[in-house]
Amino acid sequence: MKLPGFRGVRTFRAGSLAAVALVLWLLPYGLDGYAIHVVDIALIYAVLAIGMGLAMGVSGQINLAQVAFFGVGAYVVAILTTDSGYGFWAAAVLALLATVATGLLVGVPALRMQSHYLGIVTLGLALGFINWITNASITGGADGISGIPQPTLPGIDLSSEYLYYYLELAVCALGLAFGLFVVRTSLGRRLRAMRDDPLAAAAVGAEIPLLRMTAFVLASLYGGLAGVLYAGLIRYVAPETFSIGNMFILLAMVIIGGRRSLAGCVVGAVGLTLIREWLSDFSTYAQLGYGVVVVLMVVFAPTGLAGVPGRVREFVNRRRGHAENRAELRPFQPYGESEPARVADDRPLLEVRRVTKDFRGLRALAEVSLTVLPGEIRGIVGPNGSGKTTLFNVISGFYRATSGQVAFAGHTTTTARPYALSHLGIARTFQNLRLFNLLTVRENLLVALDRTRTHAIWRYALWQPGVIGQERQLRDEATELLDRFGLADFAEAAPGSLPYGIQRRIEIARAMASRPRLLLLDEPAAGLNGEEMQQLARIVRSIRDSGTTVVLIEHNMGLVMSLCERVTVLSGGAVIAEGSPAEVVATPEVIEAYLGDSALADASPAPPTEDTAPARKETTR
Ligand code: ADP
Ligand code: MG
Repeated sequence: MKLPGFRGVRTFRAGSLAAVALVLWLLPYGLDGYAIHVVDIALIYAVLAIGMGLAMGVSGQINLAQVAFFGVGAYVVAILTTDSGYGFWAAAVLALLATVATGLLVGVPALRMQSHYLGIVTLGLALGFINWITNASITGGADGISGIPQPTLPGIDLSSEYLYYYLELAVCALGLAFGLFVVRTSLGRRLRAMRDDPLAAAAVGAEIPLLRMTAFVLASLYGGLAGVLYAGLIRYVAPETFSIGNMFILLAMVIIGGRRSLAGCVVGAVGLTLIREWLSDFSTYAQLGYGVVVVLMVVFAPTGLAGVPGRVREFVNRRRGHAENRAELRPFQPYGESEPARVADDRPLLEVRRVTKDFRGLRALAEVSLTVLPGEIRGIVGPNGSGKTTLFNVISGFYRATSGQVAFAGHTTTTARPYALSHLGIARTFQNLRLFNLLTVRENLLVALDRTRTHAIWRYALWQPGVIGQERQLRDEATELLDRFGLADFAEAAPGSLPYGIQRRIEIARAMASRPRLLLLDEPAAGLNGEEMQQLARIVRSIRDSGTTVVLIEHNMGLVMSLCERVTVLSGGAVIAEGSPAEVVATPEVIEAYLGDSALADASPAPPTEDTAPARKETTR
């Protein structure tokens, strides 16, 4: 899909960036001493807000401890420079280390807790911090610490708030650039995937607890930077700067600016600092006003100011009536066949041994055993509620079996976590689609294509070219995969805006992006029309021929009969039959438990699956 004037858009962007840079550069010349002080404060809040945006907007982790990070940064500088005689910059480095350590500490509850509880816990930690600085003697109690020495830089007089502005501007610009770099590459994509759907993210290999922790560490890093800048600018720290009231102002900045956009966070921070200064004579009313604006924003513009251009564009496009909407789902391009050696291996790929799964009183699986050989397409059928999805959840690590074992590719995986199973080679789709809805289709695939482990994020700190190199390679692979699955026209679309059949296909493409050895498909044909089902059969067969073993839960007996060599039938959580489709449908238990006369009649003639001649359209169920 060619965007007309794409180059024009780029030039326009570069031009406006240059204009903004010029204005920022010249800004101090037009400001008096008081105004530059306010702007200096605004930039500190901007740095703070970027960290907040990374945790809340990008990663979806409620973080009310940001003022505590800010405080740790400022107080460590204050204590080290006044009590211990450290130089400003040495103290600054130690302050950053201390803040990141605090970030790790605050992130510990995040390892176990979901978002709302996390909000309460982080708020509690912030309150604890405030309490401590107000009462401890090392922090100077309510009086705070004054007499922080002037930071110096060779050739630049930082006692001038005009020149300090440029230091802050540089830190803020670098911080924003680094934040955007994170957001748009591997780590940020995972963080955003985690925000949209942590279960689906885990299924494609994201280590959720570590990622949550990373979100807090990023937030703390920016909090610490802001604290250091604050200590250097004001040279005095006291508890009221790090109060809960200021925490909520910060929250307001991020929500009004647009929490998912780091630039939006900066705009919100600078804007609200200026407005706050302007309204300082009416601070009680102003507080109330911010509260009202935040509520209005949450209700009417949840994406904040940063989301406005996108909404306008959407509106205009709708008015134009999708003039350029000629996007279509293209045919699937089959995979090349794999070496026969890989398929011919006859040791089981997956072994489920006497697995039982209880939910309180309910036995969803009762001693289920299942052996899948490499290269199989195994069908799992059974009435609703018979435990099929639960079986998938146990195999893929989402549920832990009450008893019994699961082994995959020679490893015992009974207690393995979903991300670990993804890295071992299990991929799955979900009965109710679970795409990352705020990521584009391309990004959905990129999350799964990226097989690096979370610890590889050290490269963000020490070797950025490594990240960029990997990014290029991933993007090439994504393009190839989009072409293979006929999704190229939708690469930049939001998955939620696409028809159901396309979303199902994206989910399979995403699962295949992780290059699995075993693919679990949970009712992939649900909601598809006849033509789409033909395509699905073709895709599944090609996936198997490429060397990936497939286990498929399906209600459509026609599809099962045409695709699967073996079928396992579940009923009431137990396996009641297993064998070739023809054997299974002839088993009296199966007829009684599940199929009934109508389904049998539907299933008997194996449907056509020649790609070229769809002789008969299949019906769902
Ligand atoms: P199927 O996929 O075959 O339709 P499921 O595996 O989804 O069936 O469900 C099997 C049984 O287990 C159902 O009775 C369902 O209500 C129950 N069940 C599934 N997941 C849970 C859960 N997380 N908590 C409680 N009960 C569950
Ligand atoms: Mg199910």
